[in-house]
Amino acid sequence: MNAAPLNNLRHYFESGATKSYSFRKDQLKKLKQAVLKYEYKLYDALRTDLKKSPEESWVTELGMVIAEINVAIKELRKWMKPNRAGTNLLNFPSVSYVMNEPMGVVMIIAPWNYPFQLLINPLVGAIAAGNCVVLKASEFAPATDAVMKKMIEETFPKEYILYAQGEGAQIVPQLMNQFRFDFVFYTGSTAVGKIIYKMAAEKLIPVTLELGGKSPCVVERDANIKVAAQRIGITKFSAAGQMCVAPDYILVHESVKEKFINALRKAILIFFSEKPEQDYNYCKIINEKQFNRLISYLKDGTIVYGGRTDKEKLFIEPTILENIAMDSPVMKEEIFGPILPVISFKTMEEAKLIILKNPNPLSFYIYTSSRKKEKEWLSVIPAGGACINNSSWHLTNHHLPFGGRGLSGIGYYHGKYSFDTFSHKKAVMKTPTWFNPKIKYPPFKGKLKIFKWIIK
Ligand code: NAD
Repeated sequence: MNAAPLNNLRHYFESGATKSYSFRKDQLKKLKQAVLKYEYKLYDALRTDLKKSPEESWVTELGMVIAEINVAIKELRKWMKPNRAGTNLLNFPSVSYVMNEPMGVVMIIAPWNYPFQLLINPLVGAIAAGNCVVLKASEFAPATDAVMKKMIEETFPKEYILYAQGEGAQIVPQLMNQFRFDFVFYTGSTAVGKIIYKMAAEKLIPVTLELGGKSPCVVERDANIKVAAQRIGITKFSAAGQMCVAPDYILVHESVKEKFINALRKAILIFFSEKPEQDYNYCKIINEKQFNRLISYLKDGTIVYGGRTDKEKLFIEPTILENIAMDSPVMKEEIFGPILPVISFKTMEEAKLIILKNPNPLSFYIYTSSRKKEKEWLSVIPAGGACINNSSWHLTNHHLPFGGRGLSGIGYYHGKYSFDTFSHKKAVMKTPTWFNPKIKYPPFKGKLKIFKWIIK
């Protein structure tokens, strides 16, 4: 792609067309209509790319976006209002406020695992905040990519929202080399996150990085084991484990390990049947590269449930592993698939040491009925987000900021947090002219005492 379409975005942004409340609201409404118009085409595409059911697609992809748009439409006027701020004595009698200014021309880069939601949800925030946008979907979910391109190009002019496609991942450095974006919002692996961060640093472009990592899940001896097994079973194996916030591995108290594994087996059978490869609810692995990576983990432990695979169908059965060496690849790399190591622990200290080998996870999950343990665990494991007696669902609550920390990411979004992420907070102070005390101007000699009284 040459620079002309990018320069058109710059000119459109600078024309001020995207800034008014009515424009932003209209675009959000248009986006909602477009998603609803393309609903069934998107279901088909998500089925082709990942074998997702329409129900799962609604809950985790389209519905999530529609809910995000609805909140943005409802709250937009409030979000856009400048926020009044106090003014200190030094600046009396000025008034102060914080203005929400659009970032400008932004780029959104998405991965393949929730190919629709992870591209379009940030777009909602970008539109609400008044930006022009370049969208870059993942080349590994081509059916969804094609439908989204059609949907976006039919709905928005190219000088406002540009759908960049072609040449795979290489288009990202091409775009970033020839144009200075005002902000980059990236979702994907930590390895590529570092590349994006470096490219952005060269031009001092601010970024949000939504990355991956190993999200640990602790099951304490006082947990409700049946509920824990069901909630872990659904969040680990939906999307065939290809979810950034899926529990990566389980640390279960040794006294309840057998009970937990039995309950998990039962839950998996109910959710995905004895033949998950034919089951309506069970997804496939995205491609052969990921399939090969995942099956290599099967030798890192003893298979106590599942383990069947079919390369033709890109199928890997929901699998539970035991007896895992802590230095094996399955415990060092983000699994991102339907393989679940279960490790027992005796003391919190022992479990904590295992977790801290992969610091700053995107999410951390604790199953316990003890308030004390809940607090202890939350205070010792730094993580992007956390759930107590649940996994993954925190990301569906738009009242919560969603993002990682350190190795699992920089920044956050969803709901109002998305609007804030795509806005610059401009600090404004207005000072009346009727009060212009001499003390503020030289000569300063002899004024130290009064300065010390004002600034303390
Ligand atoms: P990926 O990092 O390979 O690709 C993500 C995007 O980056 C794609 O659009 C791709 O085209 C682009 N890309 C790839 N290589 C690039 C390069 N060298 N330069 C510039 N751009 C490049 O990630 P993936 O395999 O698509 O997704 C899986 C990863 O994403 C997992 O680690 C998962 O945890 C993470 N993830 C995180 C979240 C989150 O919200 N934090 C959500 C979903 C997935």
